[in-house]
Amino acid sequence: MSAQEKIWDIPGGIHPAERKELSNRTPIQQAPLPKRLLLPLVQHIGAAAEPCVVVGQRVRKGEKVATANGVVSVPLHAPTSGTVVFIGEQPYPHASGMLAPAIVIDSDGLDEWVELTPPADYRSLEPGELLTLIREAGINGLGGAGFPTAVKLTARPTQKIHTLIINGTECEPYITADDLLMRERAAELVAGIKILAHLIQPEQVLIGIEDNKPEAIAAVRAACAGHDYQVRVFPTKYPSGGEKQLIQILTGVEVPSGGLPADIGILCQNVGTCVAIHDAVLLGKPLISRITTLTGEALARPGNVEALIGTPVGELLAFAGLDTSKLNRLIMGGPMMGFTLPSLDVPLIKTSNCLLASTAAELPPPPPAMPCIRCGECAEACPASLLPQQLHFFALGQEHEQLKAHNLFDCIECGACAYVCPSSIPLVQYYRAAKAEIRELEQKQLKAEHSKQRFEQRQERLRRAEEQKEAERKARAEKAARAKAAQAEAPVAAAAAPADEALKKLKIEASMAQVALKKAEKQLAAHDTSELQAQVAELRAAAEAAQKALADAQATAPVPAPKPAGDEALKKAKIDVAMLKAQLRKLEKTEAPDDDQQAEIARLRQQLEAAEKALVDLQNQAPAPAAKPAGDEALKKAKIEAAMLKAQLRKLEKIENPDDDQQTEIARLRQQLEAAEKALVGLQNQAPAPAAKPAGDEVLKKAKVELAMKRAELKKAEKAGADEADLQPLRAALTAAEQALHAAEATSGKPAPEQVRTERPGVDEKFKALKTEAAFARADLRKLERDESTASEALEQARTRLAEAERKLNEYQP
Ligand code: SF4
Ligand code: SF4
Repeated sequence: MSAQEKIWDIPGGIHPAERKELSNRTPIQQAPLPKRLLLPLVQHIGAAAEPCVVVGQRVRKGEKVATANGVVSVPLHAPTSGTVVFIGEQPYPHASGMLAPAIVIDSDGLDEWVELTPPADYRSLEPGELLTLIREAGINGLGGAGFPTAVKLTARPTQKIHTLIINGTECEPYITADDLLMRERAAELVAGIKILAHLIQPEQVLIGIEDNKPEAIAAVRAACAGHDYQVRVFPTKYPSGGEKQLIQILTGVEVPSGGLPADIGILCQNVGTCVAIHDAVLLGKPLISRITTLTGEALARPGNVEALIGTPVGELLAFAGLDTSKLNRLIMGGPMMGFTLPSLDVPLIKTSNCLLASTAAELPPPPPAMPCIRCGECAEACPASLLPQQLHFFALGQEHEQLKAHNLFDCIECGACAYVCPSSIPLVQYYRAAKAEIRELEQKQLKAEHSKQRFEQRQERLRRAEEQKEAERKARAEKAARAKAAQAEAPVAAAAAPADEALKKLKIEASMAQVALKKAEKQLAAHDTSELQAQVAELRAAAEAAQKALADAQATAPVPAPKPAGDEALKKAKIDVAMLKAQLRKLEKTEAPDDDQQAEIARLRQQLEAAEKALVDLQNQAPAPAAKPAGDEALKKAKIEAAMLKAQLRKLEKIENPDDDQQTEIARLRQQLEAAEKALVGLQNQAPAPAAKPAGDEVLKKAKVELAMKRAELKKAEKAGADEADLQPLRAALTAAEQALHAAEATSGKPAPEQVRTERPGVDEKFKALKTEAAFARADLRKLERDESTASEALEQARTRLAEAERKLNEYQP
């Protein structure tokens, strides 16, 4: 064997009965044109194509009917001319018997092509244009998985592809579609390879074919004459056709676990895909048909057909002479990796390389699965060097981490392990289910991770917004402090305003600065941050500056000119004194006053002294009040003052353990009270003796009060339902009070009040009862009407009750 023909072996592998002779003895035939074609929108890995036709639209053969929907997607084309009759759910080739969105076209029998516009010379196209052409022709891998070819060609744009491998292996039993294609269309195959080689410029092109296809090998070798493409033939073994296995056989290089061939500079394409590329680039034809094997002992005429994509499987099998009485199991694909079709209504799709109509004797149902005996046969058969029995146990226990650690995703689902298993364990089914579970979980985790990221981003946004707000607040505070400081340093400007007005303004500012400082101090107490500390320091400085400005202004403020010693001025002076006293008293209560507070106390004392002096001056200037008779007014005022002082004193005296300030205040109040009482006595002595009142007035008043009290006592007892024994003395007391009043009236000398007797009807108990019943019935009805869950019967009863009560009330004649 020359170096050029060197091949390598792969681990594992099996040799099942090939059964290829059933279908490889006749040339490819053209399948009849079906009346109706079903085009599922998903015939590839990736996003479903998007329909670009509407129901009722006429389409020609090769016309695009659905566009690629995203990068990993391919368009679809009408396989024949006809009319779009339906777009929606249709049977789909899947083991579950599921439906999937599809475009349904009724053929018009004309099979009329759309105008084909292949490029004059593809070599003049840019690589991007050539890739677009391949993509727009709707080409995806025809060997099995259906990955969009244009995407595969650009899988690792930065990785140079040095080896292009063309897969002509077709290792699975029964399937001969690629064999026949290589035999009959080797020239087109080589032309397709040439296009690919032009596109990716590999250093070598290797065509791998198993040695069980001598005619195909000969045909491809002949077609490759004049090219430096190497046709490499190797012994038949299943599953040599797996992409990673073929790479290993032809190059001796292993694709790393979880990696792609492109990672090691290798690209693999199926022979069918190469022919489809030829058709698209050189003829301008999109992918609308494929060669598929119709085989199995239930068919009278097995063989290979070129069939339109979308042809119902039942029609193809009928063409191959299906004997439904013999049909036991219909498989799409081969017996190792294919899946059972539950219906003949599903269409042929781009990845359908075989339809196997088997009899019961041909593919008997597997015996019931038995427990694993740890024979190790499966591990020996595995071409991916996995431990199938371990994977099986991990899959049973849903140990996902272990499954991943044991490279479950390197399993190509070839079924070699299950084929050799003496316990007939359907191992591949376990692996498929476990892979699906893991993918679903990872999808969920990905979603959760996205949600978490969104949440964290939101928190970050909020934090930044808060920071910005804080900065703005700080800027405002600084501005305010600067403005206050400027005002404090600008006494000239302040003096320009009327003195009172300026003082007032300064007071307001000092107060606002104080409020802002207190607020910031509170925030600082709650959240001790360096920003807040700095802010508090600034605000304190501003407040001090404002306070100083106010103190300076007050100190330099001109002493108010003595006002006309009128009543008004006197009153104002008194108020000033009172206010200053109050402020001073408040400040004097502060325990351990700081320097500022002490300064403020001193200032207030000064002001108070000045105010008291001003008051004394005013009082001296004021004309001596007309000698009033020590009348009622002065007496009344003195009484009120004494009473107020008493009340204040009593309140303070109630405090248990008064502190020093409180004791001082109590002493002060006692002193004041003593003076007030003395003044009151003096006034009372000066007052003229009150005019002798008619002796009866006081007595009359007292008698009236007594009567009212006795009446009230009696009413209260009656309302409380007191018995007659208790009521009797009260009635007697009332009578006595009435008589006392009459006597007082008689001696008072006043005319006796005119007595008006009003007749009050006695209480009608029945009328009262009827009214009460009507009121209760009304209230009950309202309550039920407010409750949404009330049954209609209950409502009806309540209405009847109210109507009856009202009727009785209306009809009542006292
Ligand atoms: S071949 Fe079957 S019985 Fe043997 S070890 Fe593998 S799974 Fe177990
Ligand atoms: S199905 Fe997976 S585990 Fe079994 S032999 Fe094939 S690659 Fe190995």
